[in-house]
Amino acid sequence: MKILKFGGTSVGSVENLHKVKEILTSDQEEKIVVCSAMSGVTDQLVRLVESIKFNNPEEITRSLHRLENKHYDVIDALVDNQEVKNTLKDGVSSIITEMFEVSSQEYSDIINSRIITFGETLLTYIFSGFLNSIGISNVLLDAKEFMHVDSVENPNIEKVRKKINKVLNDNIQSPIYITQGFVCIDENNQISHLKRGGSDYTATIIGAALNASEVQIWTDIDGLHNNDPRYVDGTHPIAHLTYNEAAELAYFGAKILHPQTVSPVVDKDIPVLLKNTFDPEAQGTVISNKVNRKGLKAISAKDGITAIKIKSNRMLMAHGYLRRIFEVFDNFNTSIDMITTSEIAISLTIDDTSNLDEIVKEIENYAEITVEQDHSIICIVGESVINDRNSYKLFEILNYIPVRMVSYGGSNNNISILVDTRDKIPTLRFLNERLFQIPEKAVV
Ligand code: ADP
Ligand code: ASP
Ligand code: MG
Repeated sequence: MKILKFGGTSVGSVENLHKVKEILTSDQEEKIVVCSAMSGVTDQLVRLVESIKFNNPEEITRSLHRLENKHYDVIDALVDNQEVKNTLKDGVSSIITEMFEVSSQEYSDIINSRIITFGETLLTYIFSGFLNSIGISNVLLDAKEFMHVDSVENPNIEKVRKKINKVLNDNIQSPIYITQGFVCIDENNQISHLKRGGSDYTATIIGAALNASEVQIWTDIDGLHNNDPRYVDGTHPIAHLTYNEAAELAYFGAKILHPQTVSPVVDKDIPVLLKNTFDPEAQGTVISNKVNRKGLKAISAKDGITAIKIKSNRMLMAHGYLRRIFEVFDNFNTSIDMITTSEIAISLTIDDTSNLDEIVKEIENYAEITVEQDHSIICIVGESVINDRNSYKLFEILNYIPVRMVSYGGSNNNISILVDTRDKIPTLRFLNERLFQIPEKAVV
């Protein structure tokens, strides 16, 4: 059994859905296929939630009709048989009716999760029906019946395993099962979601639960690149990454992977392949335990970082002082990414500022605290990157860009710097040139 996940662009048009169909039928191995919503649909649903929050019935109606028409158009272009067309449109229409009903309720976190996960419901329903209509037999599974993860941070794989095995046993056997990414059920048995981009995570959770032979993540690029291709020209795909490298890159902003994607499969050593739906022959990236090459591999950037400086003349480094500071962050469920210290001050970064006011209030009782928003962590990653003979070149950045913090040696596999987000793109470009375009004569 293998798991294949197709992202928003891969399922984002009729033409692309045909490409997905080709990939699914290229071999006979039993598959679970995890699909995202069509690209743009989840963003639209996030806006719909705003209309629910601010009680705007006209906008809710407009938005749901737009969504219905968009999916009707897909059915029209995808399916030839008129009877099948009508059946699928009826199905979409009942999903939209349910969405109207949910949208009429008072806003809550559960309403939010119910609404924003409907994009996957709509797409998988249409795609499964289309495949069946052209003789590619498959079974549509409702992810809400088995993605009982309890906690998003630490999914209960055992529970998912029991539930999915039951669902598979209760359904007829099929070479292809199709299900929705992103949605999950929490510890209170309520509908929830795995955060934006979470379908990658759905795939690896299912992969771990079923001990899959591999998890394939199909997207719109030929694997994980050595730098962010949205900002830097001339990047290249990396053929092999270790789980550690992929986890660091995903956590520190490589958009191609949801930050938690690899964690469920690391212990089981299930390989994760990143593949391009538009160029299936391209090698892509394999993520596994195997260390193919040590040293510098890739750079990523994570935005939305807040830097906090805590200064105290009263013996900052005295026994127990750091614990007191960390306890404040812990009490407010806020995790810290980077830390640097001096004798009288500590600087640290967070990305979740929802409890920042309370944290500041608490720390102000015994230290001076300053907060700077809109920073980015630039992360340089590779097994033993700190031993790479070229990695010193990254510090040449200090000649050109004001660097707010540096973290070196926290792990052998990661060097991070913090810069103002305004300087992110120049930093990525500069590092790409210095670290990856090494002049011939410098290479021994
Ligand atoms: P999907 O909708 O298939 O989940 P995403 O948009 O989430 O796709 O991820 C793919 C995109 O990630 C690529 O189109 C690319 O622009 C972006 N990306 C950012 N950093 C990287 C990187 N280091 N390597 C490859 N792609 C990256
Ligand atoms: N559709 C969801 C999102 O846009 C989940 C995903 O695409 O992975 O975030
Ligand atoms: Mg994604």
